[in-house]
Amino acid sequence: MAYLGIPQNTIAVLQKYHFNFQKKFGQNFLIDTTVLDRIISSAEITKEDCVLEIGPGIGTMTQYLAERAGSVVAVEIDKALLPILEETLQDYDNVTVINDDILKVDINRLVEEKNGGRPIKVVANLPYYITTPIIMGLFESRVPLKSITIMVQKEVADRMQVGPGTKDYGALSLAVQYYAKPEIVANVPPNCFIPRPNVGSAVIRLTRYEEPPVKVKDEKKMFSLIRASFNQRRKTLVNGLGNAGLPGITKESASAALEQMGLSPTVRGEALTLEQFAQLSDLI
Ligand code: SAM
Repeated sequence: MAYLGIPQNTIAVLQKYHFNFQKKFGQNFLIDTTVLDRIISSAEITKEDCVLEIGPGIGTMTQYLAERAGSVVAVEIDKALLPILEETLQDYDNVTVINDDILKVDINRLVEEKNGGRPIKVVANLPYYITTPIIMGLFESRVPLKSITIMVQKEVADRMQVGPGTKDYGALSLAVQYYAKPEIVANVPPNCFIPRPNVGSAVIRLTRYEEPPVKVKDEKKMFSLIRASFNQRRKTLVNGLGNAGLPGITKESASAALEQMGLSPTVRGEALTLEQFAQLSDLI
């Protein structure tokens, strides 16, 4: 089977099957071998690895993964792609294609079935409309993971990587950085895809921490504080938390906790580090 990273081969397959791109599924297929090589090398795939690919499309990256990994499980929502994947992946006996919505799949069970519960690697050119739920779902449901190497919208990659005091810093930055070490490994322009997306893209690798970088008594509470702080970005932290309706949290208790931490009562959430949010959550 011809490699699909080469644009002519992708076009030939799309024409053969009269494939219609579905905007609602975020379908932008990769047609650039340099980018594919970069994703695969950043993910450091070896024969020891079981890889979960989210949204294989016509199988472009799946072919690369299948050649390097021990096994690949690819979850694709669009039924119309199944006969295409059957043809493009026919030479590989280590790939399982599952036709489902990734947000509805019990990934922990899948990891148990396909890799005996041992940590997997996730590699994907993600459908951008569900980037955050996919990433948070993987982390929050404690899927055994080594790393997640994904193509996302450039702006979202920036948000995952930045620290306090920048405009992109927010709940996603803190959540990602609690679970993993983020590193942008490539910037990818629209002409590497067919059809071209309207936004720039980036490949980011999230390497899962064995232990979170900060200790907090109640993770859930910390994340509700974080969400409440950034929901009302322009308000001070005290006002944001005081108005959020979180059980037992008032302007007064928020103010007292900040004072104990040596922070100004007019500080905004975007100035706090992950460590400070953990401290606040333990104190408040
Ligand atoms: N991996 C291919 C590539 O790089 O050329 C395709 C990437 S395309 C950006 C995203 C893929 O995710 C599409 O094939 C799309 O149909 C699939 N997809 C969209 N929503 C999905 C969902 N909820 N569950 C599983 N796959 C989904």
